[in-house]
Amino acid sequence: MIDGYGDSTRAVKAVDSQAIPGQPVGPTPVPAAAYHLSPDEGTEQDTYGRGSNPSWRSLESALAVLEGATTALSFGSGMAAISAALRVVTAPGSVLVVPSDGYYQVRRFAAESLAPQGIVVREASAGEIYEAAEQADAVLAETPTNPGLDVVDLHRLAGICRRRGAPLVVDNTTATPLGQQPLSLGADLVVASATKALAGHSDVLAGYAAGSKPELMAALERERLLSGAILGAFEAWLVLRSIGSVGLRFTRQCQNALALATALRRHPAVRAVRYPGLPEDASYAVAAAQMRHFGGLVSVELADASAVHDLVRRSELLVAATSFGGLHTSVDRRARWGDPVGDGFARISAGIEDTDDLLADVLAALDRP
Ligand SMILES: *Cc1c(COP(=O)(O)O)cnc(C)c1O
Repeated sequence: MIDGYGDSTRAVKAVDSQAIPGQPVGPTPVPAAAYHLSPDEGTEQDTYGRGSNPSWRSLESALAVLEGATTALSFGSGMAAISAALRVVTAPGSVLVVPSDGYYQVRRFAAESLAPQGIVVREASAGEIYEAAEQADAVLAETPTNPGLDVVDLHRLAGICRRRGAPLVVDNTTATPLGQQPLSLGADLVVASATKALAGHSDVLAGYAAGSKPELMAALERERLLSGAILGAFEAWLVLRSIGSVGLRFTRQCQNALALATALRRHPAVRAVRYPGLPEDASYAVAAAQMRHFGGLVSVELADASAVHDLVRRSELLVAATSFGGLHTSVDRRARWGDPVGDGFARISAGIEDTDDLLADVLAALDRP
């Protein structure tokens, strides 16, 4: 039983079925070829690796535990999971709401791949999404949003979607299942990039979908089989191996993010700070009600682009990187990717360094001429 334990214990227990004495370490064999066929045709479990394989099952059972889902499905990346989910919950003529302030490539996928198929795509920010959902046939929400860190009230949004019979899909990448469990707040499906804090070592791309509605999960599994957007066996093993330590990594990241947000909001070089765990943050009340941890991301607004570059250059611990959730504290100037933010807007991803070292380094880098 896994209920009643803390996050780190749950994460460790979720993967410990792997520790079979005498078994070799590493990815289990992938039956890519049909060498497991038996004379009782149709009774075999793994006939071909794109449909099912034991490496996925180990990872997916851990993901399902963490998300509080009956079923999880691994995908080759977060985008593979999200695009499969959006294809499954839409049909020509249906109105799909996607975040205007969320992960930018999701908007592009909707505009470039779904809209030409006759799906009506509407973009809405975290503040506008409730009204937009009133007219929707399917809704994708992202919370906290990447990069602005606005929070969507999932319980409220799920109520609107349920009245309309519109599936609610929630991107849980930034919060991770340790930060929030969207299914318990009324979402129909969770999608996420495991590339970020969940795998957490900046060395593997992976994604997943998790849910408890049998028809929806079966449709997604079919979509994965036919689109072929699958996770490799080695990558599945890397993510599974990482999940055991996500409790330790993520709680340290959250602690470092809160410390950075608290220190930076008082600094004269910082014009604005967003962190859902700051009591004065506009999203704090909703975040405190639905999140168990506030996440490892902090958004700051500096004077301009060169102020962001100077911060990274003068620091000994910060690295410039566009992914996030890894061991190192990293900084990304989001305007370079076309996000609707100012030139001096930086998304900071807190790493697992000692909090005092990180704070001292960042404050010194801001003050250094
Ligand atoms: C990174 C990210 C994705 C895409 O994930 P990939 O693994 O890079 O495909 C989707 N949503 C959010 C919020 C992300 O940060």
